[in-house]
Amino acid sequence: MKEGRINLYSDTQTRPTPAMRQAMIEAEVGDEQHGLDPGVNRLCERVAALLGQETAVFLPSGTMCNEIAMLVHCRPGDEIYAHRIAHIVNYEAGGVAVFAGAQVHALEGERGIFSVDALCAALRRKNRYEPRSCLVEIEQTAQGGGGAVWSLDEILAVAEVAKARDLRLHMDGARLFNAAVAAGVPARQFAAPFDSVWIDLTKGLGCPVGAVLAGSARFIDEAWRWKQRMGGAMRQAGMLAAAGLYALDHHIDRLAEDHENARRLGEIIAQCEGVRLVFEPIETNLVFVDVSRAGVSPRDVRLRLEERSINVGGYSETLIRAATHLDVGRAQVEEAGAAFVETVRSIQRANRE
Ligand SMILES: *Cc1c(COP(=O)(O)O)cnc(C)c1O
Repeated sequence: MKEGRINLYSDTQTRPTPAMRQAMIEAEVGDEQHGLDPGVNRLCERVAALLGQETAVFLPSGTMCNEIAMLVHCRPGDEIYAHRIAHIVNYEAGGVAVFAGAQVHALEGERGIFSVDALCAALRRKNRYEPRSCLVEIEQTAQGGGGAVWSLDEILAVAEVAKARDLRLHMDGARLFNAAVAAGVPARQFAAPFDSVWIDLTKGLGCPVGAVLAGSARFIDEAWRWKQRMGGAMRQAGMLAAAGLYALDHHIDRLAEDHENARRLGEIIAQCEGVRLVFEPIETNLVFVDVSRAGVSPRDVRLRLEERSINVGGYSETLIRAATHLDVGRAQVEEAGAAFVETVRSIQRANRE
């Protein structure tokens, strides 16, 4: 991929803003591995409070948050219940199998959200033949469902079943704040029933590195052990934490703009003949576009847009994904939308000739 002026490939594509960089430069630092980095300590306390959890640990990435949580919660041979399109199923290089030795029981459901009934139907009986049920995982928002938001009711219903069956509950909260802003529900309320929950600093929050995993003191103590084992312990990481603290102050409420921009982008793109928005309504910052009936390939569209210095993601053989974020303003969204429509039409014209 050649990076363009308007990069809608992912919300990970943000650069730290000048003000964020200034906060990083001014960070007080210490040895994180020894608990002596004041910025990291503050960040962890702050995230734990925001998520209504006892404590938290700073990790290099969201993927490591998921993997470590599974390691702590599950034993080899255990079973994890997650949606078929979950990040842990599709984008962690089989890490759950490698590290936790657990297997995933993949559930179906609209837009990356499974129902309590689907969960109950899948739950194993307790006998010596079937895998031991261990954990239920949900993604807030559900990336592969177009950034769909689990409602509080849906979460509470799943949590009730998990509790009754003595299963742990884990939230992949890579875009939890998008959900909180979109639904007008505090992140704490969404996170309350979970045994572990993490937020990504590098998605909509716009930081260069990092994620924060929260849970009980006992859970985080074990998580720290794995962080140490895996080489995830850091030194003067306060510079990274400073970016996180800055983002928590300045980049949460503005996610509403990303959501409006995503809706606007979808509106423009949908004018194109044969092009369909896969997930409607657009709830947060992700726009999935099916171009299969427009007679164009995602790859062609992506490459042609790249020539115009615009990046989108080719999600599959038929789908394109665009993510809005803080480095893309309304004017750029208008420009990218118009360019998308022109590009599709010009490919269609060329194909007809
Ligand atoms: C990006 C993402 C992750 C992984 O986070 P990284 O910080 O990129 O490792 C996990 N789950 C979801 C839903 C994501 O979108």
